[in-house]
Amino acid sequence: NAKKRQIENILYQRLDNRIKQLLQNIGKTGNELGFNMFVVGGFVRDLLLSRQIDDIDIVVEGDGIEFAKTYAKKEGCRINTYKKFGTAVIIYPDNFKIDVASARLEYYKTPAALPIVEKSSIKLDLARRDFTINTLAISLNPDNFGTMIDYFGANRDLKDKTIRTIHNLSFVEDPTRIFRAIKFSNRFGFKIGKVTSNLIKNAITIDCFKNLSGLRVLSELKQIFEEENPIPAIKTMESYGLEKVLHKDLTLIPNTYQLLESVNKILSWHDLLYMDEPYPRWAVYFMAMLNRCSYKVCEQICTRLNVPLRERGILLEKRYKAEKQLNLIESSSTYTKQELYWTLINFKTEYILYMMALVKDEEIKKAISNFYTHQRGIKPYIKGRDLLKLGLQPGPVFSAIIKQVLNAKLDGQLKTRKEEIQFAAAYAEKTNLLIKS
Ligand code: ATP
Repeated sequence: NAKKRQIENILYQRLDNRIKQLLQNIGKTGNELGFNMFVVGGFVRDLLLSRQIDDIDIVVEGDGIEFAKTYAKKEGCRINTYKKFGTAVIIYPDNFKIDVASARLEYYKTPAALPIVEKSSIKLDLARRDFTINTLAISLNPDNFGTMIDYFGANRDLKDKTIRTIHNLSFVEDPTRIFRAIKFSNRFGFKIGKVTSNLIKNAITIDCFKNLSGLRVLSELKQIFEEENPIPAIKTMESYGLEKVLHKDLTLIPNTYQLLESVNKILSWHDLLYMDEPYPRWAVYFMAMLNRCSYKVCEQICTRLNVPLRERGILLEKRYKAEKQLNLIESSSTYTKQELYWTLINFKTEYILYMMALVKDEEIKKAISNFYTHQRGIKPYIKGRDLLKLGLQPGPVFSAIIKQVLNAKLDGQLKTRKEEIQFAAAYAEKTNLLIKS
């Protein structure tokens, strides 16, 4: 039987008013429809671990779509529904989202028949999850609001700080859970239970990844690389030999780890300063991991993981371009501020950060950092229409002049708009660009 515990107090203490109100409204609306309502999974786990809560996952013992429609109407939300799965997403006008699923049991009357979908209990829904710590549910109906349901020993494992599967075939059933175990263990500082760890080793021994779609592995890898510090997780992956799942010739040497550490430092620096400038964080770690591989091995890894074309570009061609440019910068003793600007302006954040992690010369590192924090934001005040006013004829010459203005600006020569116009006029005069009327 489920262990029940009232955690209403925790709900009241740790959640902000909006979420509290929302959970109560969900419970009420579901109750009116005759459904049992639960908030489940990561939400409850993170609540008990006092971590920030991102998603709300609701499970309905009943018709989740009917619930979502009724609730959205009441609250003025939009919904997306997925009939086939009995799931819905409720979207508030400010884009806040609630995921809704129907607890249900699917079975086949005869092998060839369509599945018969029955509404079933929350227990079966929770039993399908990856780890015990993700199997908690809290009742939301008014009569038992705040009752926590723990069928699989989740509270014990949260207390023991341990990742455990629910059953022994878990990793064979879905090998991506191996990556998920490592992700959660790294994120929460939990150990992987002994039995669970052995199950991972067994699953790898029997080559469980053989038939697994590369995209699913890629998605889990990306999630690991998006963690605040993925390096311990990468070490754990290596301890299980998981890098060989990506490629038999992929080896992580001390240099790779040094580079990963330096990526971690640069990204922490960046993210603190530019919190609201998103970039594919995962890609920088991935680039670092591939740094020592041959082009052929990188290509084969991308193929194995079904990396989509655009992302393949990041990991292969554009990464090589960034490495090549950095080599050029490092091997030249005469690289000017302006040259650095015109080189780096072609690279997005992820490559600049990668180059900063890779660069050996401290002076160049400072220069790249200066580019990122100052130079990249410098824009000339003058526009094409200012040049028209000077009597210049529109054409490629406009961008040539603007480029010169920008160069002078980067050099600290020009401060005001007026100075820029004077500079442009003088430059045009000097280079005979003025139309003599
Ligand atoms: P995160 O904070 O990383 O989003 P989460 O626990 O919310 O963690 P999701 O990946 O959003 O994780 O998954 C939502 C829920 O679905 C989890 O609580 C988990 O139990 C379940 N789940 C996700 N992937 C699997 C899987 N491969 N096998 C079984 N259950 C899964």
